[in-house]
Amino acid sequence: MQTSTDYLLAVEGLTVSFDGFRAVDDLSFYLDRNEIRVIIGPNGAGKTTVLDLICGRTRATAGSVNFKGHELTKMREHEIVRAGVGRKFQTPSIYEDLTVFENLEISYPRGRSVFGALGFKRDAAVRERVEQIARDIFLADHLDQLAEYLSHGQKQWLEIGMLLIQDPALLMLDEPVAGMSVSERKKTAELLHRVIQDRSVLVIEHDMGFVEEIAHKVTVLYQGRVLSEGSVARVKADPKVVEVYLGH
Ligand code: ADP
Ligand code: MG
Repeated sequence: MQTSTDYLLAVEGLTVSFDGFRAVDDLSFYLDRNEIRVIIGPNGAGKTTVLDLICGRTRATAGSVNFKGHELTKMREHEIVRAGVGRKFQTPSIYEDLTVFENLEISYPRGRSVFGALGFKRDAAVRERVEQIARDIFLADHLDQLAEYLSHGQKQWLEIGMLLIQDPALLMLDEPVAGMSVSERKKTAELLHRVIQDRSVLVIEHDMGFVEEIAHKVTVLYQGRVLSEGSVARVKADPKVVEVYLGH
């Protein structure tokens, strides 16, 4: 039997009130290691707020978020990042006037170096890691290109790469394929399947075609609560989900 400590992330009774309005209301869900979980639901369901609560941007009114034994609701945003939670926002936050290489390089975590004063050794390790990440995000041939000249999809991948270089155990993405072409969407699915060998991914997404390509499990959120949960096939066949979301 699985206990709550076997999960990478255990969200229990999570609640936040904004002036009495419960945007997230007694929410519980559990994320396995190496799992891709997709959260779907109508606008205003509380999806983005859930990510805000997990990453410490918004303080919970009640409930707990346990991540690898850390109680995230008691931690500050930068401590949560250090504990291994990476979160991508809806609008990309890359440095347009820097190259792909430089964007990845400045995201390489500092203070984790075992090389001490041996700067050249660190430089070699950083370069190797940047090149490895660049391959994962389909930008190996664009390392010297200024980020401003990347396509919209490539910018999204670069931002995912800037998170991956910090090696988070949990990667959270809010609508990562919005505005992407069909082929970019397919490659993003491939990217996510590749990176979960070392981590879990929590994705908010509207595009059901993409959800079907990536989700191990789907959690349907409605009015801050879990309306339905399970495989894509199961939630798609759930009349409650069809009524409040898929039927529209
Ligand atoms: P979703 O991402 O599912 O579309 P959100 O999580 O953005 O939904 O929002 C859920 C609800 O909480 C909405 O009604 C939104 O207006 C409200 N909300 C979100 N953040 C705040 C905030 N900081 N203050 C007040 N209300 C908020
Ligand atoms: Mg949202």
